Amino acid sequence: MRNLARALGAVSLSLCFLLQPAIAQTQPGVIDSDGFFRRASQRPARRDYSQQIDALVKKMTLEEKVGQMTQLAIGFIASGKDQEIKIDPAKLDQAVVKYGVGSILNVSDQALTVDHWQEIIGQLQAAAKKTRLGIPVIYGIDTIHGANYVRGATLFPQEIGMAATWNPELMKRASEIAAAETRAAGIPWSFSPVLDLGRNPLWPRFWETFGEDPYLAKVMGVAFTRGLEGTDVSSQTAVASSLKHYMGYSFPLTGRDRTPAWIPENYLREYFLPSFAESVKAGARTIMVNSGEINGTPGHINHHILTDILRGELGFDGFVVSDWEDIKKLVTTWRIAATEKEATRLAVMAGIDMSMVPNDYSFADHLIALVKEGAVPQTRIDEAVRRILRVKFELGLFENPGPNPALKANFAKPESRQVALEAARESITLLKNANNVLPLQKNTKVLVTGPTADSLISLNNGWTYVWQGSEESLYPKDRPTIRRAIEEKAGAANVTYVPGTRITRPAGSPSNGTPTDQEEEVDIPAAARAAQAADVVVLALGEGSYCETPGNITDLTIGEPQLKLAEAIIATGKPVVLVLVEGRPRIINRIADRVPAIVMAYNPSNEGGTAIADVLFGDVNPSGKLPFTYPRTPNGLINYDHKAFETENTAFGNMAFNPQFEFGHGLSYTTFAYKDLKLDRSVISPNDELSVSVTVTNTGSRAGKEVVQLYVSDLVASLSPPNRRLRRFAKVDLAPNQSRTVTFKLRREDLSFIGADNQPVVEPGEFEVKIGGLSQRFTLR
Ligand code: BGC
Repeated sequence: MRNLARALGAVSLSLCFLLQPAIAQTQPGVIDSDGFFRRASQRPARRDYSQQIDALVKKMTLEEKVGQMTQLAIGFIASGKDQEIKIDPAKLDQAVVKYGVGSILNVSDQALTVDHWQEIIGQLQAAAKKTRLGIPVIYGIDTIHGANYVRGATLFPQEIGMAATWNPELMKRASEIAAAETRAAGIPWSFSPVLDLGRNPLWPRFWETFGEDPYLAKVMGVAFTRGLEGTDVSSQTAVASSLKHYMGYSFPLTGRDRTPAWIPENYLREYFLPSFAESVKAGARTIMVNSGEINGTPGHINHHILTDILRGELGFDGFVVSDWEDIKKLVTTWRIAATEKEATRLAVMAGIDMSMVPNDYSFADHLIALVKEGAVPQTRIDEAVRRILRVKFELGLFENPGPNPALKANFAKPESRQVALEAARESITLLKNANNVLPLQKNTKVLVTGPTADSLISLNNGWTYVWQGSEESLYPKDRPTIRRAIEEKAGAANVTYVPGTRITRPAGSPSNGTPTDQEEEVDIPAAARAAQAADVVVLALGEGSYCETPGNITDLTIGEPQLKLAEAIIATGKPVVLVLVEGRPRIINRIADRVPAIVMAYNPSNEGGTAIADVLFGDVNPSGKLPFTYPRTPNGLINYDHKAFETENTAFGNMAFNPQFEFGHGLSYTTFAYKDLKLDRSVISPNDELSVSVTVTNTGSRAGKEVVQLYVSDLVASLSPPNRRLRRFAKVDLAPNQSRTVTFKLRREDLSFIGADNQPVVEPGEFEVKIGGLSQRFTLR
């Protein structure tokens, strides 16, 4: 009876929310992307600090103003290594008192304890307070998947895994915790979220993104931003965000980090702008700039992007920070300026408000000279300084520069770890499960093998304790790897572990662009022998850790030693469960058809071992969905929203779109059926809302979560149309036999695209709506 009542309860999502917010927000078991998005992207009210800012700017000397625009790395004002790092009083004095430096960033070598951070931040703010005007310093770190430079912080799946949850509520909760833990260390600013679109899986920062789709990235991005900044950024649990890397950084033609991208403006606006635009609308305080170049123009001198679009069109009122050393690189790398002084002029005039210098005073010296010569107007300096001061006021740093010892209570709470575990569980994506080989029985004899099976490093990837995530000794001893979690689940007596191959990284790997991870066989025959004695083999493959340029690769195919190991195991005839722990989809076509089960784990972080074991043994029903297209071949790098004609064999023969796994794909231990896809009308005008409903039923025998994905195809357009675009999704929790009718509202922007003149256009004609294998057409008048 109860199920029947539930089944009859239709859920009308977006429109309900618009008219009666309380209804959609409280619908149990449904997370609707549109409703969430509309709440999260509301810009909270701001206090007006213009009087305080005016008063301060009037008193400031040119040197003090340029100091505010300068950001230095902590290593430049500290001495000692690792946990021994200490602020050097003479260097601190030079930075904060003499140069009036406004911002410091990062760690010197590795993550520090909360106490250590509080001590350092306390010294910095005390020095700042003693200056003539007492302007506080704004400290920033890369809180990428948690406050990763604070020892013992709660760490969440990397963004690519968070995207696979398709659960923006969970993303927001995770970033709220990350913000509170960052603030607890005395740090009020995070260089996140990454809003670059992961449309090229070769790119070593792919895992830092929310995947390939602009809509998913924009919903998850706003969730991240809102979680960091909250509704009152001065609260002691919020931090300023930094949307990065604005924009087009993620799409270098070769896939190698910081190499040339060629992106026409209409494509830039169609794909790469929306995630930034939405988080700007939501009130994000700062933006970090694309460290690469587009169409021959380095991000850091692109006035059109940094000023015309960002300020003119999007109305961004926070400040723009450069990326690492990028003004210098205008001379040394991009060769766009002959001298650093000229580079400084170009960057500041393009719209850079703060330079991440980070290891000398050249920026300040050059900028002062440029203003004195009249090459940079004083008004441009004042504009930048006002923006920086506003964020400092908004963060409450003038009254409360921190650190606040009481905030340590917010750090690494047990309930936060639970959220991280929940996120890891929801991210895990079951790609294949032939003959229901999964879930495993708890008394099964399991061989665990493969280079990622016993590695917290692989579970985490970069931005973990150190930049490259590669320092084994810094990882917590009490978080199980996949191997240990399986032992806990199935009993150590039932589990054998034989590594088979190893991924190593030479100590002190150079960050000069050469791939640093190396793979080697350990004893593959030993693994194959152990397989003979097992009922099932959990084969954990994937990648080590990498970040930025050191993660460049020459071949997307998974390492040869791993393929050899896989083939030796497959040859035993034992059922193989392939678990992929990797930051980008490494090609697996040599083995994918020969293993019955494939589980994609991404980089689920420290709770990932537990979460993977929970899924393998059926304690958790998987609900993750791929946020990218998993390519089948190294040359088959085509996104899901490719041109319609690319799917047709007639046009491209065997080169047609034929991925290993599709964007949005992910299985469950239960089954879902879709029916009754209905549009409320078949002909609409551009400003009409179109109501789309569909009923989804859990037709299996256990509870599960399904992501209802709505795609729209524009069948004929003046620029050759993509075959489909994701426009809405809802994550729905269903008991066995339970049904829900989900209703989405489509609006004008869901039918538009950026035309050849770089403006959004809505063209009359036929459209198709697709959900869960069903489709319906309508006509736009
Ligand atoms: C990265 C940024 C990061 C900065 C500070 C740069 O190399 O590109 O994403 O925020 O370093 O760590």
